[in-house]
Amino acid sequence: MTEGVHWQALIRDVKDFPKPGIVFKDITPLLADGAGFAAVVDDLAARMPADVDAIVGIESRGFIFGAALAQKLGLGLVTVRKPGKLPADVHAVEYELEYGVDRLEIHRDALSSGHRVVIVDDLLATGGTAAATVALVQKLGAEVAACLFVIELAFLPGRAALEGVAVEALMAVDGD
Ligand code: AMP
Repeated sequence: MTEGVHWQALIRDVKDFPKPGIVFKDITPLLADGAGFAAVVDDLAARMPADVDAIVGIESRGFIFGAALAQKLGLGLVTVRKPGKLPADVHAVEYELEYGVDRLEIHRDALSSGHRVVIVDDLLATGGTAAATVALVQKLGAEVAACLFVIELAFLPGRAALEGVAVEALMAVDGD
């Protein structure tokens, strides 16, 4: 039983990482705590929509929560990765960063029409990463049932970037 485990307290704020002005939400103390890790995965499972065929995890912290959630639910895990990591044929999507562009890839044969998936990542900030992942899943003809996050930076427009997609976050963080 993980009910009542206050896993939120295990997420550590690291100021000015990776650059000045950013408060980085460090999940490593949460992962290192057995009861806390189990509790956060249970809480993610409680937010799952019905009739989902697979979990899509975003590199790299989305893999950690996505894999644990997939195992708990008896589902498979599809990985969305940074460029050059997936060995077979891929679809790629480029998305804007604050400075420059980044790219995410998915195996072309990872999903197809008729599949209904939930996309998992640790944190929703501007929504660029998750929106690119939604685009990749849709490019394969699959349906996004929801995007599921542990943390949402509610002072950023992540939900607006994911308009039209169900968004679930276990905890919302407001700006100072
Ligand atoms: P975004 O595309 O802006 O929504 O950024 C989300 C991605 O960046 C996620 O994969 C997060 O792991 C990471 N990220 C962005 N901001 C933070 C933050 N303040 N603390 C921890 N991770 C972050």
